Amino acid sequence: MFEKTGVATREMVMTKFPPMERINKGPVAVVECYQKIPCNPCQTACPAGAIRIGDDINNVPQRDESLCTGCGICVSKCPGLAIMIVDGSKSAETVEFRIPYEFLPLPEAGEQVVGLDRAGQPVCSAKVLKVMNPPAFDRTPVVTLEVERKYLYDFRNFRREAKAHG
Ligand code: SF4
Ligand code: SF4
Repeated sequence: MFEKTGVATREMVMTKFPPMERINKGPVAVVECYQKIPCNPCQTACPAGAIRIGDDINNVPQRDESLCTGCGICVSKCPGLAIMIVDGSKSAETVEFRIPYEFLPLPEAGEQVVGLDRAGQPVCSAKVLKVMNPPAFDRTPVVTLEVERKYLYDFRNFRREAKAHG
């Protein structure tokens, strides 16, 4: 299915998430890189040595959740927009996501947006908490959003609400 659609199955997605105890402790990277490709900026960008690709640059990256500090540096460095940060430490009802977002105009903090799943379908609502776009991110802004916890494994992206006319 993945080969045809490019959309990861739930089973594939689950292999990339750390255990819930780790998510509930604080921010941690989810590296959704599924195929062997010659790429490694995630590994070189990580100051904690938490992403390993190894000697063969084609290897699929492995993230060690015990080393990951959730700093988020890798998020804007991945050319495939394959990395996000999840944080379940803030509330029992919600989780925070930090995701790369390259569409303009950027949203604003406080804005309600439409949460999308991996197939680009609307799945939930989400609240924008923060938008970061410093020069060091090299035109890959990172948006922090709050999402209901039950959508932890579904939410992957968002789109802004269409403005009502008139
Ligand atoms: S969030 Fe920070 S510590 Fe974790 S994998 Fe990314 S760069 Fe490394
Ligand atoms: S930088 Fe992104 S696309 Fe490249 S290997 Fe790392 S996770 Fe995969």
